[in-house]
Amino acid sequence: MKLEQVIKALKEYDGEPVKIMEVCGTHTKSIFQSGIRTIISPKIQLISGPGCPVCVTSPAYIDHLTDLSLKEKYCVLTFGDMMKVKGTKLSLTEAKAMGAQVKVLYSPLAAIAEAERNLDTQYVFAAVGFETTTPIYALLLDEIRKRKIKNLKLATSIKTILPALSFICENETSIDAFLSPGHVSVITGSKIYKGLASTYHKPFVVAGFEGEHILAAIYEIMSQLKGKRYEVRNLYSNAVTEEGNQKAERLINQYFEEANGIWRGIGMIEQSALKLKEEYKEYDAGSREEEIIEELPKGCRCADVILGRIQPVECPLFQKVCTPLHAVGPCMVSAEGACGIWYQNS
Ligand code: SF4
Repeated sequence: MKLEQVIKALKEYDGEPVKIMEVCGTHTKSIFQSGIRTIISPKIQLISGPGCPVCVTSPAYIDHLTDLSLKEKYCVLTFGDMMKVKGTKLSLTEAKAMGAQVKVLYSPLAAIAEAERNLDTQYVFAAVGFETTTPIYALLLDEIRKRKIKNLKLATSIKTILPALSFICENETSIDAFLSPGHVSVITGSKIYKGLASTYHKPFVVAGFEGEHILAAIYEIMSQLKGKRYEVRNLYSNAVTEEGNQKAERLINQYFEEANGIWRGIGMIEQSALKLKEEYKEYDAGSREEEIIEELPKGCRCADVILGRIQPVECPLFQKVCTPLHAVGPCMVSAEGACGIWYQNS
């Protein structure tokens, strides 16, 4: 079907209201940048999901990082997004202002050079993310072992997306369908959504990130719902296969194993984290993720945003008190956070 016909059909939709969750922040950003909300029927609601790793990182883990960064001869290495996220006491930015050693890196592999340059410093890499970044952490571990580096460890807060989607299907029944995360699906393959699609009767459609890809995915979802079909469709076949990237999965499985994970604002989701295997504990700087601290800043509704219960604009603090410069909650801090994306683009 031609793009104009797809747009016309989505614009003219006048049936029951439909709620589609786009799981990852990159899709949220593309939806804004391509103006999709303005060209489809208001009866098709697009709502953000839990696919921003920084937003769901537990306060206890941030506390662990800030504690480490303040220790003598320790340095925490991190991606920039993590700097402003608050723990229960401090963010890494605040710890740095107090004299802690914290460095922003653009690639985990750059940590190797840091560690080799300063042998007196114990480096800790803040390994945060989903399946997408985990193979890179596995490669980092390969390199650490190959070069026999003793002063570089990982503090992990790695989540897997399927248990979170399962949690949402079980608890958030108003969501009718999912735009599956493109990047995660490259690693996991589209097969992982099959069980949820059939158990919960929800279409799961994997899509690329261009506006036309997302429109095609929404159209596919609407067609499935109309025909009462609940299937997994992969519309991003130039990057995603059914089986996923098996080499990357092998790398992940070599170093990591499943464990219970704490999601900020949600709590514990069983088997939703990846932790370093016991045999690699010498490279493990811990995570403290097992400590449940549900607390979000007062008034912050990040949990409702992550679970698709509200849009960011429905949070009373949005744009008034909470802005990227003075972020109250993690969803405003991260480049992939729904609140930050809505703020920058609306
Ligand atoms: Fe939290 Fe700010 Fe988003 Fe409100 S606007 S949910 S306070 S991050």
